[in-house]
Amino acid sequence: MFDEKLLMTPGPTMIPTRVLEIMRRQIIHHRTANYEKSFDELCENLKLVFRTKNTVMTFACSGTGLMEAAVANLFSPGDKVLAVTIGVFGERFADIARAFGLDVQVLAYEWGKPADPAEIKKILDTDHAHKIKGVLMTHNETSTGVTNDIKAVAELTRDTDRILAVDAISSLGALELEMDGWGIDAVVTCSQKALMNAPGLGFAALSDKGWAAYEKSKLPKYYWDFKKYRDGIAKISENPPFTPAITLVLAQNEAVKILLEEGLENVYARHKRHALAAQAGVAALGLSLLPEQRHSSYVITAVKPPEGESGGSGLGSGLGSSLGIDGVIKDLNISYDVMVVGGQKGLKGKLLRIGHCGYFNRFDLIRTFSALELSLAKAGHKIESGASLAAIQKALA
Ligand SMILES: *Cc1c(COP(=O)(O)O)cnc(C)c1O
Repeated sequence: MFDEKLLMTPGPTMIPTRVLEIMRRQIIHHRTANYEKSFDELCENLKLVFRTKNTVMTFACSGTGLMEAAVANLFSPGDKVLAVTIGVFGERFADIARAFGLDVQVLAYEWGKPADPAEIKKILDTDHAHKIKGVLMTHNETSTGVTNDIKAVAELTRDTDRILAVDAISSLGALELEMDGWGIDAVVTCSQKALMNAPGLGFAALSDKGWAAYEKSKLPKYYWDFKKYRDGIAKISENPPFTPAITLVLAQNEAVKILLEEGLENVYARHKRHALAAQAGVAALGLSLLPEQRHSSYVITAVKPPEGESGGSGLGSGLGSSLGIDGVIKDLNISYDVMVVGGQKGLKGKLLRIGHCGYFNRFDLIRTFSALELSLAKAGHKIESGASLAAIQKALA
């Protein structure tokens, strides 16, 4: 209907106007004082967001590129790693490690549940020969709407020679993550989620222990070689080593400034507040979350379809019988210009996921639930009109 959609998706997310305005400008060259100034500023500010004293490197790629780069820069062929998976993106980390010839031990959890740090401790404690060189893990599992307790896992690895590599793609800049404070060795993320920019940039940082592991790593890498980027930052004539995504870097600098202007603590609090409000909205519609509420993510809410109705089957009767949950998602987009997403892989047709990540406010959430009520009603689901909106307003009051 309108030419602009409201993206309540877990990436890409909406982009602030100040950032959009930068992206419409004519290209500048990257070997110039202007670019250097902006890039330096971004590098310094990203350290504040990563909560690290170490260099944060910027790459032209999507988030997955840096999951792959983390593996290539930290390990050697045949190294054993423990991949903790609670959903699609945890599996992806394990797949990447396998693709690079690592010996991957998988600790998998039922989708909708978080990892249990006690179980990870048991595996590491019984690895007396110290075969396990690292742990690969997702901070916020976007596919199931569950957040892992990274702090507890970092306690298991921080004073050891094991590496903890964390996919913080949907969490960094929205959920508390203390890279240095908790002792995480590798953190990767990208531009199009909580960092409020268009897709196309990846960011990574290593701890000192991570850099020591880099020195020993024998997996092949060239474009992805972290040292080229770190040393490039120290020596501006070689900074960056390859043509950067100039426009996106300039835009990212602005987006991170906006994040820091709001204040990281306030940003975290806003995500939590709105997630709790979304959960209240879901309950008011008589629907339930995939995870237990205490594990439910503050950046994405994963909602199960009404009891006994999933897949391509209808919600209720009449018009609804042809809609199904994926039909509702489609209707939200076509009729109301609100985009949310469905389930992935094993959860296809069994989930509706509402992103509340990055640049959004209470009225975006209210518009989303208002549209959701209309679509669910169309699908034959009995709801009290305005019930979720009242619940959200109350939760935010
Ligand atoms: C989005 C996402 C990814 C994949 O990022 P791309 O930019 O699509 O490569 C990986 N992990 C998590 C947790 C994500 O949310």
